[in-house]
Amino acid sequence: MRRMREFGTTVFATMTKLAVETGSINLGQGFPDTDGPERMLERAAEAVRGGLNQYPPGPGLPELCQAVAEHRKQWYGLSYDPDGEILVTVGATEAIAAAVLALCEPGDEVIVFEPYYDSYAAAVALAGAVRRAVTLRVDAGRFTFDPAELKAAVTPRTRAILVNSPHNPTGTVFTRGELECVARVCREHDLVAVTDEVYEHLAFDGVEHVPLATLPGMRERTIMISSAGKTFSVTGWKTGWVCAPAPLTGAVRTVKQFLTYTASAPWQAATAYALREEMDWVEAQRVSLQAKRDRLIAGLEEAGFGVLRPAGTYFVQTDIRPLGFTDGLDLARRLPELAGVVAIPTQVFYDHPDRGRHFLRFAFCKRDEVIDEAVTRLRRLS
Ligand SMILES: *Cc1c(COP(=O)(O)O)cnc(C)c1O
Repeated sequence: MRRMREFGTTVFATMTKLAVETGSINLGQGFPDTDGPERMLERAAEAVRGGLNQYPPGPGLPELCQAVAEHRKQWYGLSYDPDGEILVTVGATEAIAAAVLALCEPGDEVIVFEPYYDSYAAAVALAGAVRRAVTLRVDAGRFTFDPAELKAAVTPRTRAILVNSPHNPTGTVFTRGELECVARVCREHDLVAVTDEVYEHLAFDGVEHVPLATLPGMRERTIMISSAGKTFSVTGWKTGWVCAPAPLTGAVRTVKQFLTYTASAPWQAATAYALREEMDWVEAQRVSLQAKRDRLIAGLEEAGFGVLRPAGTYFVQTDIRPLGFTDGLDLARRLPELAGVVAIPTQVFYDHPDRGRHFLRFAFCKRDEVIDEAVTRLRRLS
């Protein structure tokens, strides 16, 4: 169909394939190369062996819905009824797609911040909706938006704003002030906020992740999305969840039940366990990731890149111009041959690719020796 033609193969699949074919170190796709908490893995295996292998309830295993509700309350002071306000999905990706499909009539508009996570554009297209990109620009070493541009992006057809913080691919964690600006626009124009918070526990340097739903007047209009993948280093489990007022959760559930019906049962049981018992592991992981970030940043700076220090996520943005390059897509294609490393060209996440042409994204969620070897190779560039 015409509206999906621009999407083809995702850049992550293309670059991961390139890494495998060329034997390059893959700092492209954001998946960790170590496992999640041991006890959680055992819990999943026990669930399989213990017979938790048939369709779980559509909204999710009750024990996971309950554990999500407890987690929201404990971390953010937000109350969600596990029976009706929480929905388990096949990763955050399905949650985002189902939310957009549930909210938008053809021709409705969805505001996204660019560079955006690539599935947003596809989800909006699937719904027959139109995306309006507000550009995140570098100011004082971090990516942020101009409130006037956000306001100007709203039209009578705007239905929702997709907000991702901590933000992939820039590593920005929106401040309370930035979120207040988003919240004001949502309240003034009666918009729904769809928040992608998959990196909620991966903010660094004492920076606080503030869920948009905690701001005044926002819980009632926010579809809050999280996932076990990034929090517990199990990106292959594809276990996510939606928290929202019952009418919104119900609308998302109506779509979700005909996309996948339910999410896999064993991972749900293990995730319920982990949300209750493994948050100390998550904190240790966050500390370790922060050190990996610093390790990669130091190496990239030595190699000659301009580095934008991220406050969260798995990723660091680099400016390739100090090395004499101008086009990130071109460099990303040649990087395996030039240095034996794969990275992601940030420009593919823009509706205005010129604005991101000189950025390359590197992932630091890798073992220290992998980061060190990548840095050694990248020094060949200068
Ligand atoms: C990884 C990622 C996702 C996908 O999460 P799944 O749970 O694997 O579907 C969604 N949004 C962002 C910003 C991500 O980085």
